[in-house]
Amino acid sequence: MATQRTVITGGAGFIGSHLCDHFIAKGHEVICIDNLLTGSLENIAHLRNHPRFTFLNKDVSNYIAVDGRVDHILHFASPASPADFERLPIQILKVGAMGTHNALGLAKAKGARFLLASTSEVYGDPEVNPQPETYLGRVNPIGIRGVYDEAKRFAEAMVMAYHRVHKLETRIVRIFNTYGERMRLDDGRALPNFITQAIKGEAITVYGDGSQTRSFGHVLDLVDGIDKLLSSNVWEPVNIGNPDEVTLLQVAKEVIELTGSKSQIVYKNLPPGDPKVRRPDISRARDLLGWSPRINRRDGLARTIADFKERMERAHVARDVA
Ligand code: NAD
Ligand code: UDP
Repeated sequence: MATQRTVITGGAGFIGSHLCDHFIAKGHEVICIDNLLTGSLENIAHLRNHPRFTFLNKDVSNYIAVDGRVDHILHFASPASPADFERLPIQILKVGAMGTHNALGLAKAKGARFLLASTSEVYGDPEVNPQPETYLGRVNPIGIRGVYDEAKRFAEAMVMAYHRVHKLETRIVRIFNTYGERMRLDDGRALPNFITQAIKGEAITVYGDGSQTRSFGHVLDLVDGIDKLLSSNVWEPVNIGNPDEVTLLQVAKEVIELTGSKSQIVYKNLPPGDPKVRRPDISRARDLLGWSPRINRRDGLARTIADFKERMERAHVARDVA
């Protein structure tokens, strides 16, 4: 069989770079397209000289050109941290709408299978917990989070239109809170904040009273779920996440314990529209893909903390040298 050619938009980002690693290891040729808005060349530095890896520094909100055959397109380009919803609202809307349209156009032109990185944010601030894929969500279109939630909801609608009209083979993964090695140190999401604060001995910033919940899944479990979804025939959206639901206060305490930090917890205002609960119903992934997560939070946090310590140390040394 000819070598599979896989395009990964957002491939220099946190999740995207793990996908690049995964498909290179599977023997694919990987074309990573990223404009480095929130990603980093550091995430793919180890792949840059690989004979089956190509990096294109391009904004996918503009027309995307790729030479030759393409078998798969995984569309992961988009800022994803709530801290960026206020900083980059127009870029988020553009990449969710125009970027998705361009990536679908490329898939149609090449006859490639298309996979969209959607999100649990399509459920908004949910009234049902856990959230099954059949839950239609509760999103405020004009809220701060609306730029991301609506962009992803639009992207899902666009994918389904290409599926129905052009008979494109499409997959939609609804990703729940994912963490792990290579997350941006200053990304602004809860775990990068807590881990960097704990390592530096600074106060841990819990928003609200910390009673809101999330369900954190490790990136390698996510990559495994995405691989299974891509090779399945399931075109309906599939939740991928770890159903181990926890309050943010509990996670903050776990990070303090696992880093051996003396940091104190401080409480800050809860951002507007912050979902009160979030937990995936993963029955569909279990039944249709035979997937369930394997990395528990303690182990996942321990390896993430080790990665953060190493990168913070390197950044520190680089600063001292300069
Ligand atoms: P990330 O910011 O690390 O990665 C996003 C990548 O997309 C970055 O490398 C960025 O430079 C690139 N990018 C952004 N706009 C672009 C554009 N116009 N053209 C080309 N590249 C562009 O974030 P992440 O956490 O790795 O998220 C990746 C994807 O997964 C996103 O689509 C996000 O919505 C989705 N997702 C992530 C999570 C999570 O918990 N991490 C949860 C749900 C969904
Ligand atoms: N959060 C927090 N402290 C921080 C950053 C985030 O308590 O320093 C909270 C945030 O209000 C939310 C949860 O942690 O309730 C998860 O936030 P994150 O930004 O990781 O992603 P979200 O799930 O909200 O998209």
